[in-house]
Amino acid sequence: MKSQQQYPQGFSLECFPPRTAEGSEKLNQVIDDLSVLNPEYISVTYGAGGTTQEKTLETVTHIQQSTRLDAVPHLTCIGATKDSIRALLKIYQDLGIKRIVALRGDMPSGMMDPGEFKYAADLVAFIRQETGNQFILEVAAYPETHPQARNCDQGIKHFKHKVDQGADAAITQYFFNADSYFYFIDSCEKAGIDLPIVPGIMPITNYEQLIRFSLMCGAEVPRWLKCRLESFDEDTASLRAFGQEYVTRLCQRLLDNGAPGLHFYSMNKTQPTLDIVRDLNWRNDNLQM
Ligand code: FAD
Repeated sequence: MKSQQQYPQGFSLECFPPRTAEGSEKLNQVIDDLSVLNPEYISVTYGAGGTTQEKTLETVTHIQQSTRLDAVPHLTCIGATKDSIRALLKIYQDLGIKRIVALRGDMPSGMMDPGEFKYAADLVAFIRQETGNQFILEVAAYPETHPQARNCDQGIKHFKHKVDQGADAAITQYFFNADSYFYFIDSCEKAGIDLPIVPGIMPITNYEQLIRFSLMCGAEVPRWLKCRLESFDEDTASLRAFGQEYVTRLCQRLLDNGAPGLHFYSMNKTQPTLDIVRDLNWRNDNLQM
């Protein structure tokens, strides 16, 4: 794998928009606590089909206007119209947003109209056409192959097409096997894809939740890891300690072998991300710890 270390080993966070006032208060505290790590940005997920549009916008506005951190909205295009995306882009321009995570999303059950965009590549092309180079565009990547891709090669081909529409960088789905990332980077390089591909990192804190999410998004939890986590049963403290050690080692291996940074799925919690980042030894002059 060619090292991607020509890029600084930055560090970013992802959160989801809270549904309740209590959740919002908790998230504000999490953002406050994690800002000591000086992340490059905090991204905010967006429900496919626009299902969390208002809450995403509320959270993005709060981060952008009330903290010293850069907010990065996710934007899914499935079920959307060009007019609705155009309107949202205008709001983000006015808010001073610099970066967007451009995604397709999955059709929510019950939604019949796929809208005017078929794939994330169409959204990337549309944002470039509408706003030029105003936004840094991040897209999603899948080291273990997206569940709907016919095979690995098709996945890479579609990823290249999406990148060629004007993406600047990519964030991966989470994975627990570092080799899947290294082989993916090799395949991308062979296909002529040249952009930073930042590993998405999922801290391990809850066995049932992890298995549920992983089934939904097609991330593999290796059998040995599943067995190990299952054996902790009700002992959540031991599960978390083991999860922290395992994910920290994974992150260290990724950084040592050229990953251009890390993107943490914070799950709106402080401690799991904080503990991992503190235990890492990496080349990031911005960390204030
Ligand atoms: P695409 O890049 O469009 O790919 C989707 C599938 O279509 C792939 O299998 C691809 O191989 C295939 N494909 C692409 N082009 C073609 C073509 N021309 N012909 C045939 N097949 C093609 N979901 C949300 O709802 N909200 C979020 O905020 C969110 N954030 C995410 C953040 C990250 C970092 C990641 C990795 C995922 C996120 N997701 C989110 C999940 C994502 O929306 C789903 O994985 C979705 O199924 C695919 O989105 P995509 O942008 O990767 O789609």
